[in-house]
Amino acid sequence: MIATLPPRALIDPSLDLFEEIERLKHKLNAVILAHYYQEPDIQDVADYIGDSLGLSRQAAQTNADVIVFAGVHFMAETAKILSPQKQVLLPDLAAGCSLADNCPPDRFAEFIQAHPGHLVISYVNCSAAVKALSDIICTSANAASIVEQIPADQPIIFAPDRNLGRYVSQQTGRDMVLWQGTCIVHETFSERKLIGLKTRHPGAEVIAHPECEPQVLRHADFIGSTTALLNYAGKSTGEAFIVVTEAGILHQMQKAHPHKTFIPAPPQNNCACNECPFMRLNTLEKLYLCMRDRTPEITLDETIRQRALRPIERMLEMSPPVPGGG
Ligand code: SF4
Repeated sequence: MIATLPPRALIDPSLDLFEEIERLKHKLNAVILAHYYQEPDIQDVADYIGDSLGLSRQAAQTNADVIVFAGVHFMAETAKILSPQKQVLLPDLAAGCSLADNCPPDRFAEFIQAHPGHLVISYVNCSAAVKALSDIICTSANAASIVEQIPADQPIIFAPDRNLGRYVSQQTGRDMVLWQGTCIVHETFSERKLIGLKTRHPGAEVIAHPECEPQVLRHADFIGSTTALLNYAGKSTGEAFIVVTEAGILHQMQKAHPHKTFIPAPPQNNCACNECPFMRLNTLEKLYLCMRDRTPEITLDETIRQRALRPIERMLEMSPPVPGGG
């Protein structure tokens, strides 16, 4: 069956995929939004590269007819929630996320019921159905600022990432009820190996994403969202950085600051666990095929979409625009 062939086998090998993707962009009036964790070739053909907050803003603002989302499923869903009249394509529908996958909406609804009177703040890394159960969505870029805007006597549920929730609690002094989810990439960094790397590179600054475990974060000189890490690397007078997040961000860091040194933090084993297996399901070939065939497409139940829209809009209202996307 042709559908079981690998993507490359479905493509004329003489095609220049970079040219073809450009041609299809114009033909479809499409915009390609890519997350920093995508492979370098995809980042290089994207119209906009950003983290979750920046990509949400772009999805809400674009005049394109088609949004090609080079990221994972919950991100493409967020684009569809914000732009229901547009076609949203995702190169590989199986590109999920451990945080979203481990917070099923039926169990999350029970969790909310078990904590009456709590305001529900959900990290954007969750399904549309979980967003529909939430009061406010946040990203790692704006989570602390959003929590600070909530009256001090209002109890809060924070989901689904317990590490981000714990970090935000420390930042804001707010005690929150946490859903116990984790990111399979960020939980894999080894404190012992990080200390070894710091010893070998004594001048390097450690910059880390708040999805990391606390024993890793305590060694960080700077903690922030992917965009914040990228911006920090530019602003800092430091020449070398140990980067504790998904390794895809190093492509933009090195491009933006070619004279600086970026060292990926080591995972527990000698594996490539610092690369998100879900993000890496997308390839340049699948990106081309989804534009050529206009599938796979994201579709959403309209009731869920409308319920999920309000907490995303609240996030955007509560988050001042940040240059570079958040
Ligand atoms: S890096 Fe972690 S949080 Fe991001 S998409 Fe992959 S599994 Fe989800």
